[in-house]
Amino acid sequence: MAVFNFGSINIDHVYSVPHFVQPGETLSSSSYQSILGGKGANQSVALAKANNNVFHVGAIGSSDSGFIEQMKEAGVNCEFIREMSDVASGHAIIQVTPDAENNIILFGGANQCISDDHIASALATAKPNDWVLLQNETNAIDKIITEAHKRQLHIAFNPAPMTESVKQLPLDKLTLLVVNEVEAEQLTGENDVEAIKRSLKSNYPNTKVLLTLGKAGVWFFEADNEEFCAAFKVKAVDTTAAGDTFIGFFLAAYQANKSIAEALKYACAASALAVMKAGAAPSIPSVDEVIAFLQ
Ligand code: ADP
Repeated sequence: MAVFNFGSINIDHVYSVPHFVQPGETLSSSSYQSILGGKGANQSVALAKANNNVFHVGAIGSSDSGFIEQMKEAGVNCEFIREMSDVASGHAIIQVTPDAENNIILFGGANQCISDDHIASALATAKPNDWVLLQNETNAIDKIITEAHKRQLHIAFNPAPMTESVKQLPLDKLTLLVVNEVEAEQLTGENDVEAIKRSLKSNYPNTKVLLTLGKAGVWFFEADNEEFCAAFKVKAVDTTAAGDTFIGFFLAAYQANKSIAEALKYACAASALAVMKAGAAPSIPSVDEVIAFLQ
């Protein structure tokens, strides 16, 4: 089974600075890195590394095609990534201070240019039981959910970063909703886990939910069933892409008909390995590393 991931591709421009730039100040950076990022690209890489067939559907500025090569090398099928000559790639300007604080300016660029014919051409190749995966860094989320639902595909949505507009989306059409604690609080208006679970179960009774709780672990729940999996105790170095890794490995295991308990444990192991390494996509482990960790 394949996953069609309608997702962002960002170029992360990362600058090391002694402190965040102040109003009117010009500050020199002691280092600069340009790294493949975006929740969409990270989740496609996680799925590919989990040996799942994944088509990334998205767009990038034509001068940045080196990032498509990186995704291909990770095993992502890139035939539905459009290169646009007249639009800048989505990108993030990230300042990182010595105490590892960061602040970020995000520009959507090409990620906001998914057109109706782009959606139609990708979905035309999807087969029954394939999945559509979405995050909240691209345009046309409503349309993609509606079109995927019409074709009876499974739909997984990770509303990150959360915005008010998410509440207007047809979330009752989702097979799987994946939220961290902050996103869940913003979506439901509740601030404890039991109340969040009650709210999501009653509002979306046909949707399965993954509620990730960082180093505490994760809840899986649906109307009449719930399971918890504790996170592995590891020394976290960088939690970037923990959630993206979790989603990729959970979906891969779930599609391979593993039990929920097995899929949760497998995804917790993969994301524990990801937090032990610096970076986003480069920190996502291989299947062999996850299997070795679980032994
Ligand atoms: P997000 O990155 O979307 O905010 P979370 O922080 O909830 O998501 O993390 C997703 C999953 O990654 C968690 O459910 C957990 O399994 C794993 N994880 C995150 N942080 C840690 C940590 N410090 N130690 C071990 N596992 C972690």
